[in-house]
Parts: sequence; C-alpha cells; structure tokens
Amino acid sequence: MESVDILLHARWIIPVEPDNLVHEHHSLAIKDGRIHAIAPTQAARNRYRAEVEVELADHALIPGLINAHTHAAMTLFRGLADDLPLMEWLNDHIWPAEGTWVNPEFVRDGSQLAMAEMLKGGVTCFNDMYFFPDETAQAVDEAGMRAVVGMILIDFPTAWAQDAEDYLDKGLKLHDHYRNHPLITTAFAPHAPYTVSDAPLQRVRVLADELDVPIHMHVHETAAEVQQGMESDGIRPLQRLDQLGLISPRLLGIHMTQLTDEEIAAYGRGGAHVVHCPESNLKLASGFCPVHKLLQAGVNVAIGTDGAASNNDLDMFAEMRGAALLAKAVAQDASALPAHQALRMATLNGAAALGLAHETGSLTAGKAADITAVRLGALETQPLYHPISQLVYAAGRHRVSDVWVAGRHLVKEGVLTTLDEDQLLAKAAAWQQKIKRFD
Ligand SMILES: [Zn+2]
Repeated sequence: MESVDILLHARWIIPVEPDNLVHEHHSLAIKDGRIHAIAPTQAARNRYRAEVEVELADHALIPGLINAHTHAAMTLFRGLADDLPLMEWLNDHIWPAEGTWVNPEFVRDGSQLAMAEMLKGGVTCFNDMYFFPDETAQAVDEAGMRAVVGMILIDFPTAWAQDAEDYLDKGLKLHDHYRNHPLITTAFAPHAPYTVSDAPLQRVRVLADELDVPIHMHVHETAAEVQQGMESDGIRPLQRLDQLGLISPRLLGIHMTQLTDEEIAAYGRGGAHVVHCPESNLKLASGFCPVHKLLQAGVNVAIGTDGAASNNDLDMFAEMRGAALLAKAVAQDASALPAHQALRMATLNGAAALGLAHETGSLTAGKAADITAVRLGALETQPLYHPISQLVYAAGRHRVSDVWVAGRHLVKEGVLTTLDEDQLLAKAAAWQQKIKRFD
C-alpha cells in the first residue's frame, strides 16, 4: 500500500475542472500538503494507507473558495454606516473613521476576525487591499490561510504612509519579505482611478512587470466616478488606464459596473480580469456589472465580497448565489451564469486572476490541498438531484464543516484550529466600545 498523509472519503467531489464534473463516492488523498490523487473510494481504501482518514458521508468537497476582493480589517467597521451611496459613505463616514482608528493593532485584530469568518465560511484564500498590509500578512501567516496582500497606494497621506514614494517603498519591503512564502503573495493595490494620479500609476505598471505581480484596483465602481473622471481628465477612467498601459493580464478591475460594449471588447482583448462584488454593488446602489457580456467577451470574471463595511459580511456562498441571480436579471436571460459557472468564478477564476491557478482553485492532482467540505445532508438541501445546484442555489456557508489550506486542517467540524474564537469576540467587543456608531 502507498502511504499518504490524509484520506478524505466524500460522497461527492466537485473538482471544478473540468466544468460540471461531479465524482460520487470518491476519495481525495493528500500528501505533503498537496492533492495526491482522486479515486473511487473503494479503490482508494485498497491502495492508500493514511495517518488520518476523514469520513464525509453526506458532504461535497469543493476547492476552497477564493474571495478575490476584500478589505479584511474593515470587519471592525461592520455596520458602522449603512444605507448610503458610495461617495457619501466614503467621505462622511468611512474615511473619517479610518483617519481616527486605523493603526497596526486595528488591522491585525480586524484581519483575524475576517479570516475567522472567511475560514468558517469555506474561504481558503483572499485578495486584500488595506493599510498596514504588513500586519495583515503577519496575521495570515499565523492563521495558516492563503492570501494575496495588497501593496496599497493612494494619493493622500494616511497612518500607513505619507506619499506615493512612501507607499511604494513600504509595499516593496512587504513584497521582499514574503517573496518565498508558500501561502502569501503580494499585488499592487492602487485604490482607484480617482484617488491615484498618473505618475504613481506609471511606476506601478513598470514595477508590476519587473516583479511579475498583479495590479488590484477599484475601477468604474459607479456612474459618478466615471462622470468625475470625464470632468477632470476629459476621458473615461478606463480609457485613462488604457493610455497608462494598465489594461493587461496583470490587472484585476474590481466592480466594473459602468461599461460600454466597446470597453468590454477592449478589456477582453487586453486579457484583464474583473472581480464582481454583487452584494457591495447592490448595497451601495453602485450599478450592475455586465457579467454575462464580460464572460461572452472572454473576460475572466472572479467574485469578491468587498469589505465588511459595505456588504456587510464576507460570505462567498451568498456572493456566488447573488452573482448567479443578478447575472440573469441584468442579461434578462435565465440561462446566464449557470450554477457551475458561478462556482468556477468563486474558485478557479479567482485563482487565475491572482496568478495562482497553478497552485489552487480546483481539485487537481499536484495543486495545494485547499479544500472545503460542505454538508449537504440537511433539510434545506433535500432532495438532492444535483450537488452543484444545491451548493449555489440552496446551501449556505453555515453548512461548511471542514476546511484545509495546503493540507492543514484549519476548520475541523466547524471549529477553528488556529484562531481563537472567544478571544476574537472579546477583541471585537473592545473595538466596538471605542469606535461607536456615528448617528
Ligand atoms: Zn473594495
């Protein structure tokens, strides 16, 4: 018999690659943190000897979900200001609160709270944009999660950095520090076209090529943003980014709710990625991302939650379902964005956008064992004609039982193994006492 580290015996395994495939009564073998093989359970029991075997009799194994856009530490601002449009929400509430409260301790505590929520909800990897990314990265390292940590860049001074040069210097130090880390990578994270001027964006383009890292940026989030860009530059923000050479396979354009057909075609030709954040767009009344048109144009579309201040949770199951439903309404076509495609957007497409498709995003031999087990035996997922349909349209994150990142069991029967839930609750309560709601 062949030795492996872990054997997961599952009712269903949904590898995501190829599309729509469901293995029934199969097992997944993990060795050295990687997926070693997927085989029918009887054959796997005969062939492998494992130190740990987990019986998942009414569960589906899926690739760990990838939250392709968030601001993890903003969990501490969850519910601080609601029911407002983007610019008023930012100018009158979020930016003043950040000016007062954001410091290394805030970012560390908020990132840990976010990771606990995400892991329990089946998320194994997140793409973050926030201040003090060194604190987030440290917290990620301690928790054993996978993350792309943003080298944030914004024109105005904050507690993290004074000016463009300072932001970039600090970001590059972070990149250097984590260059060989197995689970943490970095991306440039210029906030948005309306908050970052041309000169630093040109430097980002050059540096991203040199370092071979993605560029993560909010783009065309609202009609007001596009209007403001037209007034200040005489062109739409996307056109300005194009002139700066930023439309390339490195770019992750977040939100993208305002797009002409010509822009969609050009974006597709440029090979850039879109991260769709359905709930944030709905809550801030930002507009509708034309997901179906983007997919038809060959654009890789991933899914993100955005920060907890504008959502107000980090629930990728809800985003998956929201994306599938919204795409149909926007396209006026019930066949737009079927369930298997929504699952792919929340996993493999996220990995591809982040340059991590060789490592995660599907259950494929050789990739890291980033795996989520979802229990589908409950009332609300019965009867069960098709597990992918149940996962996207009927199940929720509360049905996630177990999560592994690179083969490490980070959620075990619903319990976090590397983060202390009681301690996180106490810290959240302490921040709430300090911060208080504005109204
Ligand atoms: Zn955002």
